[in-house]
Amino acid sequence: MADPTETPHPTAPTTDALRCLQRVFGYDAFRGDQEQIIEHVVAGGDALVLMPTGGGKSLCYQIPALVRPGVGVVVSPLIALMQDQVDALRALGVRAGFLNSTQDLDERRMVEAEFLSGELDLLYLAPERLRVESTLRLLDRGKIALFAIDEAHCVAQWGHDFRPDYLALSELHERWPDVPRIALTATATEATHAEIAGRLKLQDAKHFVASFDRPNIQYRIAPKNDPRKQLLELLRTEHEGDAGVVYCLSRKGVEDTAAFLAQNGVDALPYHAGLDAATRAANQARFLREDGVVVVATIAFGMGIDKPDVRFVAHLDLPKSVEGYYQETGRAGRDGLPSTAWLAYGLQDVVQQRKMIDGSEGDDAHRRRLAAHLEAMLALCETVECRRVQLLAYFGERSGPCGNCDTCLTPAETWDGTIAAQKFLSAVLRLARERRQKFGAGQIIDILLGKKTAKVIQHDHDQLTVFGIGTELGVAEWRGVVRQLLAQGLLAVEGEYGTLVLTEASGEVLGRQREVRLRREPEKPARSAKGSGKSAARKAAAVADLPEEAVALFERLRAWRAATARELGVPAYVIFHDATLREIATAAPSSLDALSTVSGVGESKLEKYGESILALLTEDA
Ligand code: ADP
Ligand code: ZN
Repeated sequence: MADPTETPHPTAPTTDALRCLQRVFGYDAFRGDQEQIIEHVVAGGDALVLMPTGGGKSLCYQIPALVRPGVGVVVSPLIALMQDQVDALRALGVRAGFLNSTQDLDERRMVEAEFLSGELDLLYLAPERLRVESTLRLLDRGKIALFAIDEAHCVAQWGHDFRPDYLALSELHERWPDVPRIALTATATEATHAEIAGRLKLQDAKHFVASFDRPNIQYRIAPKNDPRKQLLELLRTEHEGDAGVVYCLSRKGVEDTAAFLAQNGVDALPYHAGLDAATRAANQARFLREDGVVVVATIAFGMGIDKPDVRFVAHLDLPKSVEGYYQETGRAGRDGLPSTAWLAYGLQDVVQQRKMIDGSEGDDAHRRRLAAHLEAMLALCETVECRRVQLLAYFGERSGPCGNCDTCLTPAETWDGTIAAQKFLSAVLRLARERRQKFGAGQIIDILLGKKTAKVIQHDHDQLTVFGIGTELGVAEWRGVVRQLLAQGLLAVEGEYGTLVLTEASGEVLGRQREVRLRREPEKPARSAKGSGKSAARKAAAVADLPEEAVALFERLRAWRAATARELGVPAYVIFHDATLREIATAAPSSLDALSTVSGVGESKLEKYGESILALLTEDA
């Protein structure tokens, strides 16, 4: 690396770590706990770091690796991303390399030689490499600055991402007792933390637990009417040209939605386990490398999408748990810029998930756990309070109303739904008592609305006393009532056809011992304060709030970045993040000195791209 005493920044740095942050990464100051974590590891201590996605975990091991003598060894399961991670570091002037199964022998030999001759600052390793004795001997012959264990929750045996190779990492400490270890994860539950500390033998490690809040993500949950149309509207009004992920439950849902978006001019690609490996890899690569690609996926598209500029994550089906939902939405806005998490949810979701739980393999305890997960998710969907307060509470964190979720922006109205609930429940009761019949929501709503459909006539349902007693509400409102009764446990779904039955608690409503408060169905979907005016239409989030002159500049910078990235064969964000381009477009610096003060412009990038950017800024649009 170049002489660390020189810095292009005006403020005088005080520590090696801060100097490194400014000179190499081009950032002014540490965020959150970064400084304490880095100081602790630089001094040789072990650390367990729990930080949300986008919290800035990478710097917590990258900077100590640069400051301490020797090579930082990073264990990561994300083999497909190692090349990109190494490219991103090299673009910063950091000497990085990786060893994994995708390389041929020659490539591996070269990296090993670099490691031994002290020509590396960081070495990324797939966990299975550490099971090979020759790798261990190689590490013995070099100087190791630290071990970083990324995605540390992979050691948790009952988690989704369990990797058996991670269990072997507990031996690092025995073989290299003097080398500090830092384990990092974005998984938020207590049980996982304890398991990581235990299995990695990190008993003496200092724990750093950050808030799991992601303030730049706007949480919104909308009633589902015509989900694809609703999604398209969201993309057109708030996320034109933005990169995003759309999650669907089924492969068919993925295929149909991707085709629908593509027909409507969105650069959308499908991703699910049924596609062949080459298509999946190609679609993922386009998403990571290019600007503004939308991936429609099942949750198979997941861990390690460390693209910083995902501007929205949309769910067209109800996720199965709050934890899964938070992890998936957390893939938006790693760069800290405004992003949207949008979920459309309806009666059919509840019916379908209850059916899936009833039909799932495993014992009763397992089904009860699934049901508890679903209930927590439903409570989040139906809350009239701040979504974020509820989300964070789920992870044991207390907070106040956030001002950046749909219920904060457009407070939800509630209404006394006791009578409506009684009408619906008594229709269910009469069908059961008088006819020994069970039906789904559609038929019961038709009865309440007094509709003489073929099915109503066929079953003589127009003869029931409840026929036509519910005309004060429309179909959509009735569906909202049913959905909320299900969410509150005042009604239940049964069997293959999703028929409705009463619960014990239904009796309290029918017996007038219990009041039912319901959330009013919004007439217009809630939407961000910024996005609400007509003028905001057709604006991508990446250029939102930029002054008019800066927008054109930003677009030129983006085009330059895309061309440069293609030429170098690296993802666009490796050149510069959106946040950096935005700041350049707004500040319009006229000298290299001025450009160097922009956040994200370190020494190496200033040298490589500074002149091109200044030329671009002065050239006529
Ligand atoms: P994580 O691994 O925790 O998801 P990253 O390490 O990828 O997060 O960091 C998220 C984003 O924040 C990256 O774009 C990174 O460059 C940026 N970042 C991290 N630390 C800082 C900082 N101190 N100042 C400015 N940007 C930062
Ligand atoms: Zn809120």
